Amino acid sequence: MKNNDRPLILIVDDTPTNIQILAEALRTEYRVKVATSGKTALELADKPESRPDLILLDVMMPEMDGYEVCRRLKENPATHDIPVIFVTAKSDVTDEEQGLRLGAMDYIVKPFHLAIVKARVENHVNLKIKTDLLESLALIDGLTGIPNRRRFDETLESAWKRAQRESTPLALIMTDIDYFKPYNDNYGHGAGDHCLKTVAKALHNSLARPNDMVARYGGEEFVAVLPDTDAEGARQLAERWCAAIAALKLPHRFSAVADHVTVSAGYAALDPVHGQSPKEFLEMADKMLYRAKEQGRNRVCG
Ligand SMILES: [Mg+2]
Repeated sequence: MKNNDRPLILIVDDTPTNIQILAEALRTEYRVKVATSGKTALELADKPESRPDLILLDVMMPEMDGYEVCRRLKENPATHDIPVIFVTAKSDVTDEEQGLRLGAMDYIVKPFHLAIVKARVENHVNLKIKTDLLESLALIDGLTGIPNRRRFDETLESAWKRAQRESTPLALIMTDIDYFKPYNDNYGHGAGDHCLKTVAKALHNSLARPNDMVARYGGEEFVAVLPDTDAEGARQLAERWCAAIAALKLPHRFSAVADHVTVSAGYAALDPVHGQSPKEFLEMADKMLYRAKEQGRNRVCG
């Protein structure tokens, strides 16, 4: 859910009067979208701009019933986490059980009391907001505020698949702060943390395109995933990184290559094909980083 926006509720029911009653009751506190068929509901949920924070879903509908809609929502990673509340006239215990087993959060039997529906919606929306927040925190590195390794792994995986699908090149840069251990040992962990934050920010700020991403890979190591980028593009960015970190002029009296903080970088670029894996790709970039270290640090290898 975007900041400052009121949560978006999608009401799905083949009977327009049912929609009207619910929509009127919820419109005071939420943005409301409606759909009169399962098909339309799935289309709305799949698009980021119309993805609801909660779905009120009728069970009995022609063509595609609510159970099937719920099953498909849960199957799609993009819509998997949207809470679903069934609203239905079917009051059998087995119906209710089926709905909950399909992953629905709750089950409201018609005729319903609007106050109860509102209270339940509010509970589930609040839970969703908290879950979204935790989810985003779990993907951010606590110290530097840039994406963490988990987020990087996910991004690389999807960028890899996309590059395969679209036959476009993909590049990685791994970089590492030179002589960081002596920096930490001599200046202290507070200064070490400050150095990591400053470097992370500089790396992040030197990305030019919205789909480029740099993450903290661990310790003093950072990694960028660059869709639609060839070896030359990766080399240029890696060189820019080295220059940008040197330009920070963070004093480092315990470095053997300079009097300020520097980084080494290794890059790799390829056209993802079957038979290779993102893991092997990452190892290529890591090897190049190792080579940059071996050749004297404060340089780029690829
Ligand atoms: Mg119906």
